Amino acid sequence: MERYYRPEIETAPREEILKIQNEKIVKQVRHVYDNVEYYRKLMDEKGVKPEDIKGVEDIHKLPFLKKDDLRECYPYGLLAVDLKDCVRIQSTSGTTGKRVVAFYTQHDIDLWEECCARAIVAAGGTNEDVVQVCYGYGLFTGGAGLHGGAHKVGALTLPMSSGNTERQIQFMMDLNSTILCCTPSYAAFIAESLKERGYKPEDNKLKAGIFGAEPWTEEMRKSIEEGLGIKAYDIYGLTETSGPGVAFECSEQKGMHINEDHFYAEIIDPDTGEVLPEGEKGELVFTALDKEAFPLLRYRTRDICILTRGKCSCGRTHVKMCKPMGRSDDMLIIRGVNVFPSQIETVLLNEGYTPNYMIYVDRKNNTDTLDIDVELSPDKFSDNIAEMQEMEKKLAAAMRTMLGIGPKIHLVAPKTIQRSEGKAVRVIDNRKLHD
Ligand code: ADP
Ligand code: ZN
Repeated sequence: MERYYRPEIETAPREEILKIQNEKIVKQVRHVYDNVEYYRKLMDEKGVKPEDIKGVEDIHKLPFLKKDDLRECYPYGLLAVDLKDCVRIQSTSGTTGKRVVAFYTQHDIDLWEECCARAIVAAGGTNEDVVQVCYGYGLFTGGAGLHGGAHKVGALTLPMSSGNTERQIQFMMDLNSTILCCTPSYAAFIAESLKERGYKPEDNKLKAGIFGAEPWTEEMRKSIEEGLGIKAYDIYGLTETSGPGVAFECSEQKGMHINEDHFYAEIIDPDTGEVLPEGEKGELVFTALDKEAFPLLRYRTRDICILTRGKCSCGRTHVKMCKPMGRSDDMLIIRGVNVFPSQIETVLLNEGYTPNYMIYVDRKNNTDTLDIDVELSPDKFSDNIAEMQEMEKKLAAAMRTMLGIGPKIHLVAPKTIQRSEGKAVRVIDNRKLHD
């Protein structure tokens, strides 16, 4: 039977959610306009006054905020309350440039942790679970978010942080962890490490994993689920909106429900800024409806995604977002063709390879080159060169079918590609060196 952390909100009829959103947005716009000079100027430039926003249907009138605005306002420029009312600072992992800092009041922390609690309960978590949190603790939001969520659920929380895989495994086994929280790439590494130590999937007590903070494919999900003997759930979020838990997967495992009572989502055309209708692919934009300290309105995430409102078998009524197809800035343009690293991962896993790979892009004689190092599992590795070359050719052909361009594949020996304990870095684009 499906369980909810806050059933009255998570399964509320649409009109009720809309009512909550409308009430919150009116207050929120006033709060931001009165307290954040930077955004007040943006609104004034656009000729929008707080009283023009009567409900979420007016949100499209507001100006966007972009990562550049956050950098420009670093550190205090978007703060909407007195610093003495804040209790926490967190920061982005800096995947795509200078770090951004976000501030939280106690109310903001509670709201965020509740979102994570909803995710844990949706993954089957109760106060009888042992939740092993191996997202990084510290400035990164992963550890703090899931830790707080696990407490709210009343689960026994194991604050491992990331790394030290030996100890992760020892505690997982000795203390009977039932829910694992980390990045999908680290989950794959833990599964691999368990196997190497002779454990079978049924030897651990894990039943579910809550994995996010980086893009991962359905093929990767399958591989982790088999490797650990669990159900793997996706979780999404970003520091700018709080952290993980903005959206989470339910038992249906088809898209993540956005916590719409706190975050209003839009999909826009990244070039024109125009709001796109439901079901269309575009850039995901969030408005925080009731955060106090760092309440971003119409924040452009650069994550490419689709929203859907169909009925979900879990009974939740909140809108769903698909797995982000990568950020607009993850997309590689190689010889004019758009390539997402996730497409490469899909082909690799479908062809029976490991999720350990590195993508190298370069420019030689004015032509883009794409090279992929693919690590072989010990059972596939052989010293027969002709056989290896045949495998490389076959994989390159499968890539060409998927991507529209043919990469050069280099099969490499087991254990030669570095494993990730947090967000995996899988692309090295050397073209920037020449620009
Ligand atoms: P940074 O921007 O430095 O990586 P964050 O740690 O706040 O900072 O990361 C947020 C970003 O991580 C999101 O914008 C998104 O691109 C990515 N992300 C988070 N969760 C997921 C997920 N479940 N699937 C795909 N990408 C995700
Ligand atoms: Zn659902």
